[in-house]
Amino acid sequence: MYLKNLTVLGFKSFADKTSLNFQPGVTAIVGPNGCGKSNVSDAIRWVLGEQSAKALRGGEMADCIFNGTDGRKPLGMAEVSLTIGDVEEDQLTAAGVEVGFNEVTVTRRVFRDGGSEYFINKTACRLKDIQQLFMGTGVGRTSYSVMAQGNITQLLSSKPEDRRMVFEEAAGITKFKAQKKESLRKLEHTDQNLVRVEDLIREVKRQIGSLQRQAGKARRYKQIAQELQHLDTQLARHQFDVLQAEITERQNKAEELRNGN
Ligand code: ATP
Ligand code: MG
Repeated sequence: MYLKNLTVLGFKSFADKTSLNFQPGVTAIVGPNGCGKSNVSDAIRWVLGEQSAKALRGGEMADCIFNGTDGRKPLGMAEVSLTIGDVEEDQLTAAGVEVGFNEVTVTRRVFRDGGSEYFINKTACRLKDIQQLFMGTGVGRTSYSVMAQGNITQLLSSKPEDRRMVFEEAAGITKFKAQKKESLRKLEHTDQNLVRVEDLIREVKRQIGSLQRQAGKARRYKQIAQELQHLDTQLARHQFDVLQAEITERQNKAEELRNGN
């Protein structure tokens, strides 16, 4: 695996498309202060998926995009492509790249509105695929194959807490710390929800007692109402029979009286 080419467009001080071809052996980039030497290594870290703007000497990711000079307007997009030669087949399969290539070009693009895109051999992919491609090769974002200017001094002279931060970043703990913070926040939120649910349960339990009493009363009412209806029917039937008998009796009497006359 070796670095073949780096093409930068709109990244930091590289407003124009700039392509650097690396030959086997040692390559040194020289130039006056502020000419953009460190920006080259920043571009390499960035295309490998660097997520920390601070690690790239900026406040936010948009600081990576060429932000203009006196005579040039700022750009809206930064794009960096890195071509690696002689890539192991295993690495290619892990990243889902068609085997048959042994040369891989990874590309990262970012827009001022925050949108970010990753590509492997011009095919859109996830950051995870790029990380997978370089995992265990010593080239990844968190490995120390890219030593930024000032990193060593920072390590040697900083306070223990700052040094710890560097180690944590190197060990990839920072990411987990952030995840832990997020999880704790969610846990706290869940705790609050639980308290609310417990309150609700207590309230509902109280209501259950009163509803059970009401349901008992309703059942008794229904039963008595049925009995009443039954008795009413029986009474009506009885009255009907009595009246019917009286009618018959009076009809007979009337008949007798008519016949007597
Ligand atoms: P030194 O020798 O001091 O380490 P260097 O060659 O490493 O210098 P860099 O730090 O790579 O220099 O480049 C710094 C230059 O990049 C500065 O001139 C700065 O203005 C420019 N620069 C950084 N970010 C941007 C940006 N977003 N847009 C335009 N120019 C930028
Ligand atoms: Mg520098």
